[in-house]
Amino acid sequence: SVKTGRYDKYRFYNESIRKKLYQEKSIESSMESALENREFLVYYQPKVDLKTDKIACSEALVRWKKADGTIISPGDFIPVFEKNYTIPLLDRYVFEEVCRWLRHLLDERHEPLPVSVNVSRLQFYNTNFVQIYTEIRDRYQIPPNLLEIEFTETILFDSWDVLCKIVEDLHKAGFSCSIDDFGKGYSSLSTVQNLNIDVLKIDAAFFPNIVEKEKDRLMVKGIINLVKQFDVVTVAEGIEEMEQVEFLKSVDCDMVQGYVFYRPMPQEEYEKLLFPLVDGKAE
Ligand code: C2E
Ligand code: MG
Ligand code: MG
Ligand code: MG
Repeated sequence: SVKTGRYDKYRFYNESIRKKLYQEKSIESSMESALENREFLVYYQPKVDLKTDKIACSEALVRWKKADGTIISPGDFIPVFEKNYTIPLLDRYVFEEVCRWLRHLLDERHEPLPVSVNVSRLQFYNTNFVQIYTEIRDRYQIPPNLLEIEFTETILFDSWDVLCKIVEDLHKAGFSCSIDDFGKGYSSLSTVQNLNIDVLKIDAAFFPNIVEKEKDRLMVKGIINLVKQFDVVTVAEGIEEMEQVEFLKSVDCDMVQGYVFYRPMPQEEYEKLLFPLVDGKAE
C-alpha cells in the first residue's frame, strides 16, 4: 500500500543516512591508527612542460591504502577530515613524506624535480603553518625551490590582509605559491595579480569541450594572456586528449597535468620514470 511504500522510502532514507554516518565515523576513528601504520601513501602526478614536452614537476596526491589492500581516493576521506578539523594533520604528514622522499633522492645523488603539495584551508590559516612547514623542510635540508604550496580558490574568501600576510610569509620562506582549481569559484584575476601568485592551475571544468566551445576557449585564452604579463606560470588540469593539448599549445599555456600524459602514480613508479636504471645501475 501507499503507507508501506512511504514507510519503506523513509526507512531507506534513514538507513542510507545511518550508513553514511557510520562510514564517516569509521573513517574518523581510524585516521590516527592509519597515520601510525603509514597507510597514507603519496602518489605523484607529473606536469608536462608544453615547450619541451618533458616532465617539469609533479603534484603530490594522497591515497589511503587500507590493511586489506584497497586504495581509497582523497575525495572519499578528505571531506570527512575537513569536517572534523583533522585535515591539517594529514596535510603535514603528506608534506613530510614528500620531504623524506626528496631527501632520499638527494642522498642518492639524483636531481629531483619540484613537487607541489595541497594545503587545506584549515591548514593554511593555522597559526604557525608557514613556520611548521619551513621547519620540516629544513630538517630534511630540502632546497626551497623544490617545494610549492597549492591552495584552492576558496581560501581567497577570508580576510584579505591575513591572506596577503601568509602568501608573503610563504614567499619569504622560499615556497612557491599556486592557486588550484582556478575558475571554479568566484575569485578574479586581480586577486592573482595582487597576491603575487607564482602558478595558476586552471580548473579541469574548462576543458571537456574546449575544442567545440568557443566561450571556454576565449576564457582560457584570456586568463593565460593576462596572467602571463605578471610572470605567472599556467597549468591546465584534467587534460585527457591530445586535441586539448594542441589547443593549449596554441594559446601558450605552460604546462599540462592530466591523464593524456600521466596518471598519479606511486612514488617508486615515479622514481623509476624520472631516474631509469640502465643495466641495473642508476644512469
Ligand atoms: P586537486 O588538487 O585539484 O588534484 C587534481 C585531481 O585531478 C587529482 O584527483 C587527480 O588525480 C585528478 N586528475 C588529474 N588529471 C586528470 C584527468 O586527466 N582526468 C581526471 N578525470 N582527473 C584527473 P585526486 O588525486 O583524486 O585528488 C582529489 C583532490 O583531493 C585534489 O584535487 C585535492 O583537492 C585533494 N587532495 C589530494 N591530496 C591532498 C592532500 O594531501 N591534502 C589536501 N588537503 N587535499 C588533497
Ligand atoms: Mg592540487
Ligand atoms: Mg586542482
Ligand atoms: Mg610572481
